[in-house]
Amino acid sequence: MENILKQLPKKAKDKENENKKLFKKLRKKPPRHLDTLMVELHDKEFAKTDCLSCANCCKTTAPWLNDQDVARIAKHLKLKEQKFIEEYLEVGEDNEFSFKMIPCVFLGFDNECSIYDIRPKACKEYPHTNRRRFHKIEAITLENTAICPATYNIMEALKNALPIQYSEKGGKPRERFRRGGG
Ligand code: SF4
Ligand code: SF4
Repeated sequence: MENILKQLPKKAKDKENENKKLFKKLRKKPPRHLDTLMVELHDKEFAKTDCLSCANCCKTTAPWLNDQDVARIAKHLKLKEQKFIEEYLEVGEDNEFSFKMIPCVFLGFDNECSIYDIRPKACKEYPHTNRRRFHKIEAITLENTAICPATYNIMEALKNALPIQYSEKGGKPRERFRRGGG
């Protein structure tokens, strides 16, 4: 896993233009089955992904927390919300909360999350590759291809799964049947 994570930023950079073009095409005309396709690709990838041998998202990024996350985690830690905010959180320009510490203070040496059952919604949903209207989250997905090996693989699988008009080359949809015969 160490090697995969080391090589990932360069691999993601190499694919950046290709992935940007794909998002542009998806935004222009999203395929009707995009939501179901993304769930399929996400589930297939995560069935073979061992997040406990990776934890790169928890080690390198700080998730956002909504008000419910703040209330839930503060209660779990038996802290007043204000105290929890002061000790653990950073408040952004738009008053959004994120954890102060990177790697995450709740990440154990064994890569287990010590607040797993009550972790922030953003952690639960990361890397968002199975969300509806996936074509709307280009920036975060491109960022995640350099952080999360599963996201990188899902993007590659997505390009393979889509008809040819969404590929780099563009052009007409692939013919479904062989010509001639007999
Ligand atoms: S709360 Fe848990 S899942 Fe979220 S970043 Fe921290 S360790 Fe990772
Ligand atoms: S970076 Fe991706 S593969 Fe790694 S732990 Fe996070 S979600 Fe799992």
